[in-house]
Amino acid sequence: MTFIGTTILEISYIIASVLFILGLKMLSNPVTARRGNLLAAFGMAFAVVATLLWHRHNGERIHHVGFILAAIAAGLFVGWRIAVKVKMTAMPQLVSFFNGMGGACAALISLMEFPRLGGETHIAAMFHGEVLAIILAMVIGSVSFAGSMIAFGKLDGWIKDWKSPVIRVVNICFLLVIIALAVFVLSRGEVDPRAQMVWMYLLMGIALVYGIFFVMPIGGADMPVVISLLNSFTGVAAAMGGFLYNNQAMLTGGILVGSAGTILTILMCKAMNRSLGNVIIGAFGGSANGSAMEVTGNIKEITLSDASVLLNYSQKVVIIPGYGLAAAQAQHICSDLDKLLSERGVEVKYAIHPVAGRMPGHMNVLLAEADVPYDKLVEMDTINPSMPNTDVAVIIGANDVVNPAAMDDPCSPIYGMPIIHAHEAKNIIVMKRGMGKGYAAIENNLFYNPKTRMLFGNAKDTLQKLVSEIKNL
Ligand code: NDP
Repeated sequence: MTFIGTTILEISYIIASVLFILGLKMLSNPVTARRGNLLAAFGMAFAVVATLLWHRHNGERIHHVGFILAAIAAGLFVGWRIAVKVKMTAMPQLVSFFNGMGGACAALISLMEFPRLGGETHIAAMFHGEVLAIILAMVIGSVSFAGSMIAFGKLDGWIKDWKSPVIRVVNICFLLVIIALAVFVLSRGEVDPRAQMVWMYLLMGIALVYGIFFVMPIGGADMPVVISLLNSFTGVAAAMGGFLYNNQAMLTGGILVGSAGTILTILMCKAMNRSLGNVIIGAFGGSANGSAMEVTGNIKEITLSDASVLLNYSQKVVIIPGYGLAAAQAQHICSDLDKLLSERGVEVKYAIHPVAGRMPGHMNVLLAEADVPYDKLVEMDTINPSMPNTDVAVIIGANDVVNPAAMDDPCSPIYGMPIIHAHEAKNIIVMKRGMGKGYAAIENNLFYNPKTRMLFGNAKDTLQKLVSEIKNL
């Protein structure tokens, strides 16, 4: 590579890395998030073009540029079509699917690069960290791919949880075998890498099976943690690829995804009151062996006119959105209700649970789309102390995140998960279609609470009717 070419390429990678970082920073605010996404995508396109133009290997240009461009075009077309067509409600599974593709890429790159280490002995290559990077990228990428595909199926509803007491032991065994095989491949330093391929395929196969076993038992309220963990896995696997190719843009991109995913995982673990160690060996969910507490009491309904009067003459209303709000696409009409009540002097806030919906930050994204001011969204821990002074808690399509079983039923699969204290409000209105369960598939005692009144129907229709009623008051 000529000196000028090298310099231009390195500067291009630095520019791309800066664009990734700026893009990520802009993603933290709904106002700038869309531009941030575009900026980071532009950074990636810039890095790809720079690589095609200026990368040299042993003085030679990149070969098969036509194939590379065709593959990029095919990927762009398919990705674009899927993203345009996907319903907002299917977004979480799509994110999982795309995450899995990232993991698969990292694993395949490793598989391809391993035999190329031919000239060097493995010990020497390991000294350069290359074999280690390859093995890590392959194992982590494979786990991420297989796990993300299972998460995709679970979020889409066609894969059910598979709980078994032996799974914890099986997962620990898989982890030990993976470590042992990796050390074995690394330690056979003098052997030609091509001869080692069979061990690499075996390692990949076991990592793929572990990925499946790792996510299969995780269910109920614990999926968010595993989703963010898989996200960080893909980032780390991609960063290993960057290290392997000495490519700063890939390295920075991978590290950003990996660290953002790790931070999110830690936050999710905290929010769910779970330990990361238990996630990794798949020991999630209800720890106790007894059966869950029975729900008792009667269901009481409220009419639209009574609900409108109650809300109109309240001082303090807290809206608790959940997955049903997203499913009904009721965020805009929900924002209209908020504006209407606010104009009439009612103080309206939104209580945001970290795992409400089906993907991290789901409610924030949804409400930002409806232009709900960000300062109206209050985190669970901040809003909970004020719940006893709240006149009405309006639960819109939420279930697990307000289920008191998380606090008082040690046998419940969600026991220990912090919830929004809707049950402490003076009045509770629940909007949902019927008595359907939430993601964790458990009963909710809150619906039988004497203070609770149900407003049945699709959230969007119910909110539309409620807004009309309030306007007529
Ligand atoms: P839930 O899944 O607990 O409950 C949603 C409720 O919405 C259901 O009970 C359903 O009842 C109701 N609903 C569905 N469609 C509509 C509609 N069109 N109109 C009105 N109501 C509707 O949601 P939460 O947000 O409370 O909890 C999220 C759950 O998802 C947690 O268990 C969380 O762990 C899990 N999860 C979260 C992820 C994340 O990253 N945020 C990822 C994966 C899982 P009905 O059928 O009667 O209408």
